This record gives sequence, structure tokens and C-alpha cells, in this order.
Amino acid sequence: MTPVRYVNFARFAERHRDELHAIVSRVLASGVYIGGDEVASFERDFARYCGTRFAVGVASGTDALALTLRAFGIGPGDDVIVPANTAVPTALAVTHAGARPVFADVEPDTGLVTAETVAAAVTPRTRAIVPVHLYGHPADTVALRAVANAAGARLLEDAAHAHGARFRGRRCGGLADAAAFSFYPTKNLGAFGDAGCVTTDDAELAAELRLLRACGLATDYRHECKGYTSRLDPLQAALLRWKLHSLDAWNERRRALAHVYAERLGGVAGLSLPAVRAWAEPVWYAYPVLVHGARRDAVRRALLEAGVETNVHYPIPVHLQPCYADAGWSAGDFPVAEARASQLLSLPLDPFHEEHEIVRAARALRDVLARLRVGAGAA
Ligand SMILES: *Cc1c(COP(=O)(O)O)cnc(C)c1O
Repeated sequence: MTPVRYVNFARFAERHRDELHAIVSRVLASGVYIGGDEVASFERDFARYCGTRFAVGVASGTDALALTLRAFGIGPGDDVIVPANTAVPTALAVTHAGARPVFADVEPDTGLVTAETVAAAVTPRTRAIVPVHLYGHPADTVALRAVANAAGARLLEDAAHAHGARFRGRRCGGLADAAAFSFYPTKNLGAFGDAGCVTTDDAELAAELRLLRACGLATDYRHECKGYTSRLDPLQAALLRWKLHSLDAWNERRRALAHVYAERLGGVAGLSLPAVRAWAEPVWYAYPVLVHGARRDAVRRALLEAGVETNVHYPIPVHLQPCYADAGWSAGDFPVAEARASQLLSLPLDPFHEEHEIVRAARALRDVLARLRVGAGAA
């Protein structure tokens, strides 16, 4: 039997070959390979989609975070709060801006930071709070706004998993002072290479970001600040703009497939399914289950042998990564994030999976858990 791949980009490219080739040909024929109408049109459409006034395309999600922090005026001597369990770039962006990432623990059933965990991480130097809408489930930005205001800090969404997700009916991307999106190929809206963008209602911030992404260049040969080379290119912008039309349908498909998992895995011993808050409309960037009893890696190996690819988002909490070994954190600092890191298992889920593949993955997981006696007190 053909394996159930974790994601399958080649399947997508084959299905949409003609549309993709037409877009690439159009951009090549235009002779414009930096900036121009393709980028402006995507920025306009994506801002409208998120319900914000502005979107500023940049080279990656990491840069979207780092440039926004710099545009906030944050740098050396400042602290920025990030979750202890996230993609490492959330913290790296803080480091790139010259500030210090300070970690906050998360809730056990969603993996999200809360007002309580973030408040516990506030220092006199806290200048920004960066919640991650992990796996496409929005963080409670209303509660976090109160903590940010009390600390005199800015609130920046890391929306890399959350294109189209809603918090109390409002789209992620428009829930804070600004939001950073990644269009890394695996993301809900994925480019064909690296790309990212910042959304905001703040005109001054958008103008500063346009300077920072292009070496600080304002008018001809006048560099107003020490900026970066971090642009969204027209080819990616044109492809993303075409994909944006399908984003809601693809997210709907992710929801339907997540529902298949919930139905088939609910109540299975040895497993916890991801929680969904009443106020959230998640978009399921991943479907992370928790495997009990320190058996995650064994389960993952057995699934692979059964032809089901999985992933782990994320196996090493950021404060325990080698790249932050010099920062003085240690094991035990964020117990919930650490416990989750050892149990997380992301099951295959993208809009291009067939339902029978998801059913097969769920069945394989049940079989493996039973065979390894996970949840039977045998661990
Ligand atoms: C992917 C990701 C990023 C970084 O985005 P890049 O486009 O890869 O730079 C940041 N934060 C989170 C949560 C991510 O998943």
C-alpha cells in the first residue's frame, strides 16, 4: 500500500499544473522581479482577507517578526515574551532584533500561552509579548492585551499557523498591534519557497516596515535607517494571491479531516486529542495528539512501519535548544511545555489528503497503541 505522506506538495503541483505555469509565465514575461503590481496586489488582497488596513510582504515569517520588533523600537536591553514551545524562529526573531527572548509556559490541553503564564514571565524590561496561534488555534488575545497594557508592552501575533483562523469571529492577523505570517510551504497559505508578511492597522508601522525590508531606502539613494534585504518577490506574491482564493475552502477541508480524527480517536486509551476553546475557530495547521506513557517515539516508529508518516511540533522546547544554551534556562523551568514536547505527535493532515488516508492513519494509530499497550498501564 502507498504510504500516507505527512504532506504531499507534488500531488498539489500536478493537480494545478496549468494554473501554476500560467502564473509563472505571466510574472516572467512582466520583466518585474522585485516589487511592482504583483506584490502590491497580493498585499492589498491579504490585508482585506485579514481585515487589516495594511499588509507588508517580507522574505520570511522570521523576518516578519524581527522587522516588526525593530519597527516597534525594540532592541538591546529589552525583553520579549514568547512561548516555550513554538517553532524556534519565534525566539530567534527576538534575538535577531537584538532583544532577549523570555519564555512563558503553556496550558496542558492546547499548548497555548495564557494571561497567567505570560504575566508570570513579565520583567521590568518587557517591551513586547508574542503569542503564537499554535497549530492554527488562536491564543486569547483579549486576555493577553490586558497583560500587555499593564506591562506597557506591545502585542505581536505570531500567526504563522493561523491564516484564516478566527478568535471570537475575528480573523487572526487583526487581533493585536501587528501580526507576522509565514508562507513557508507547509503553512496553511504556503509559497513555493520562503516568504512572509506583516499585517497591521498602524500606518506608521507599515511605512517603517517598508523601509526596513528594503535596506532603509526611502527615495533614490537615501537610506533612512539601517534596514535589511527582506522582500517578498513578485513570483511568490502572484502564486500566493492565486492560492488565497482557495484558502477558506482548504481550511474547511482541514476542519473536516480533523473531525474525522476526533471521531475515530476520541476516547482511545493512551491518547489526548487537541482541545478547542468555545471562542476559537481553528484552521488545523497540524493535528497534534499527546501519546501518554513516554511511548511517543516508539509509536511514531511503528506508524512509519505501518506506512503512516507523522511529525512532531515540536520535540525540543525552545529554552532547551542548543542555540539558547548560553541563556541560562534549564530543564524544569517550563514543566508543561516540556511534558508536552515529549508526548506530541502530529498526524498527517493537509487539504490534499483523501479521507480514506486519514481513516487509515487513525486506524493505524489505534492498532499501534493497542499493540504497544499504551494506556493499558504497561508503560
Ligand atoms: C514557520 C514558523 C515561523 C517562521 O517562519 P519562516 O517563514 O520559516 O521564517 C515562525 N513562527 C512559527 C510558529 C512558525 O511555525
